[in-house]
Amino acid sequence: MPHDVSRRDFLRGGAAAGLGATSLGAFGFAAIEAAHAATIRPFKLARMVETRNTCPYCAVACGIIMYAPQAAPGAKRTLMHIEGDPDHPTNRGTLCPKGAALLDFVRAPTRLTVPRYRAPGAKEFKEVAWDWALDRVARLFKDDRDKNLVTTNASGVTVNRWITTGFLAASASTNESAWATYKVVRGAGALVFDNQARV
Ligand code: SF4
Repeated sequence: MPHDVSRRDFLRGGAAAGLGATSLGAFGFAAIEAAHAATIRPFKLARMVETRNTCPYCAVACGIIMYAPQAAPGAKRTLMHIEGDPDHPTNRGTLCPKGAALLDFVRAPTRLTVPRYRAPGAKEFKEVAWDWALDRVARLFKDDRDKNLVTTNASGVTVNRWITTGFLAASASTNESAWATYKVVRGAGALVFDNQARV
């Protein structure tokens, strides 16, 4: 390459290959120019909406970015790509194989997206509304605690413990949601409390 062709000139010439003859061709680099031009394609994620979230699998709680095309207000968007969030302090853009396969998990036809309920004695689960499910959980929570909270032990010492209901929380929660969950569960006196990272 002649001395007066800088690295910047070389790259600029390659990027402009699709527009016609360039300085590179004149210098005898036509093949390199064509190969470089062939690698330049439109960025597939251009004009996508980015949404940040947390990988749901384990307690490392890696940050992810989810990409979906623009859609009319209120319309459902189709998730096109998920990758590690380079700005997240935990994973700095990396994902393990499970996290890297999250798109398949999200699109799996077997993934549950609404609560299901099997009534006592029933053989089949049926889909129920979130409000109904949350009201039912709250009702059972309250009734069982009222019935089974142990306020003092055999020696008369105050213990306020509740061991007839267990709670399973998400290991991939943020610090804030984990703090709130812990406060609710421990505040109710529940001792049986864990997260899915140890299941
Ligand atoms: S990407 Fe892997 S390491 Fe990170 S939270 Fe998900 S499962 Fe855990």
